Amino acid sequence: MDFADLGLTPDTLKAVSDAGYLTPTPIQEQAIPVVLMGRDVLGVAQTGTGKTAAFTMPMIDILADGRAKARMPRSLIIAPTRELAAQIADNFAKYGKYQSLSMALLIGGSSFTDQEKALERGVDVLIATPGRLLDLYERGRILLNDVKLLVIDEADRMLDMGFIPDVERIVGLLPKIRQTLFFSATMDKEIKKLADKFLMNPKEIAVSLPATAATTIEQGVVAVRNDDKREALRRILRVKDVHNAFIFCNRKKDVDILYKSLTSHGFDAVALHGDMPQSKRNETLAKFKAGEAELLVCSDVAARGLDISNVSHVINFDVPVNAEDYIHRIGRTGRAGKEGHAYTLASPADVKLLAAVEKMLKQAIPTLVIDELAELTISSSDASDEKSTGKRERGRPRGGRSAKPRAKKEPAPKTVAAQSDSTPAVEQVPDTVSEAAPKAASAEALPQPSPESPPEKTESEKPKADQPRKNRDDDRRSPNERARKTRRNPHGIAEMDIGDDVIAFGGFTPAFLQDAPYRAGESARSQTGQSEDETDS
Ligand code: AMP
Repeated sequence: MDFADLGLTPDTLKAVSDAGYLTPTPIQEQAIPVVLMGRDVLGVAQTGTGKTAAFTMPMIDILADGRAKARMPRSLIIAPTRELAAQIADNFAKYGKYQSLSMALLIGGSSFTDQEKALERGVDVLIATPGRLLDLYERGRILLNDVKLLVIDEADRMLDMGFIPDVERIVGLLPKIRQTLFFSATMDKEIKKLADKFLMNPKEIAVSLPATAATTIEQGVVAVRNDDKREALRRILRVKDVHNAFIFCNRKKDVDILYKSLTSHGFDAVALHGDMPQSKRNETLAKFKAGEAELLVCSDVAARGLDISNVSHVINFDVPVNAEDYIHRIGRTGRAGKEGHAYTLASPADVKLLAAVEKMLKQAIPTLVIDELAELTISSSDASDEKSTGKRERGRPRGGRSAKPRAKKEPAPKTVAAQSDSTPAVEQVPDTVSEAAPKAASAEALPQPSPESPPEKTESEKPKADQPRKNRDDDRRSPNERARKTRRNPHGIAEMDIGDDVIAFGGFTPAFLQDAPYRAGESARSQTGQSEDETDS
């Protein structure tokens, strides 16, 4: 199908052609004609599928006729983050450049005065984050009773971020007769319930299975101790010659720490997280987008929706707390059919989180084999050796930690070795992580923290090496005491008894340790007989 077959106006088609798009993506092909007919849409689509254009293009044509009155926007788009809202505004500017629609962007962290002025003039399209929109509404600066078209973008993210009550309030202020387009990357029960509330007889469009990664992304896991993550990251950046990457941390504090560490090692990095002033966030993003900084160290505020082309790598410095965020994070690379690489550093404390990610993906993530990382990488034998001594051997020089010296150095394979055991990781996950750790709730049953909340301790929070570790040999605690400790811990294994530097997987060998990266002379890929292409998952 061609864009010309979708019913768009010549002006929009011209803008599409200027953008260099040859054919519509599946969500565009299905959604554009339906939106142009005035029907509600329930779209299940992740970022990277072209969904923003799927709603902005027809909206531009629908709104082309008519005039906005002061303070009464004709359409409203609600987005969860400021960055996403700003990106939607960019899309309007790009596809609407031959039409004279007016637009306002209402996001926190920017001046009220400018936003109020824009509203005062009257806008065809209002793009807003929920909090700022309600603020302006409460100040009497905006009236929503002329909104004929509503878009709710990234509904699942809104839910995660606790914005749904605000969204419900906003929708309650809109006319009942309107067109509503509702998009979400996933469609679980709660989201479906919301959609049922907001939509009338919608056309349901799902362009890919929820929670699947783009097939152009090479994924890999590197198993390292928590203390070695930064060194491992630096080596990956150097060996893979990474010049354009997102590096995700779970906590804002760790974003700052890692950013400082990388810059002190001479890397060209910038940092982005939700505690930074909006002006700084904009400046940082603009710098990274323009290629003026190579590495964006960030929290999950940058995980969704951000569309920056040619990002070659995503590196998860931490395994995300919410498994679904893995999909969103790695979706920053491999965009629009391009090749991308997504690597995850996983320490023993991340085992449960990683298992949850693999369960969601319905496949094990292959082990990333890089020769230069071998001395840092944990092998299963390392794990059991250290477990048997109960603690890590002190005073060993960095790089001397491999359980067994490698017989022969193999050249680093260029791509990820395929998992030789294709058994889904979820089936291999026991309830306990280590023998020392009490039974933990399953990863899914754990309370869902906010996207930026901590799954593990930072370097500064960790006990000093020579201090006795609290509860290190806690066998004397009663089962009740252990259970209490487990309950107190909101995030499962990472902060339970195993501690950050105690290497113990109990009887469990996670999928990423079952590979055979150390087998001399052959990669696991060659053992499976898979081609390079087949390992892209
Ligand atoms: P989105 O899913 O909206 O974040 O879009 C992902 C990327 O795909 C953006 O960089 C768009 O510019 C690009 N894109 C959208 N539609 C098309 C298309 N039909 N052909 C090629 N690229 C597209």
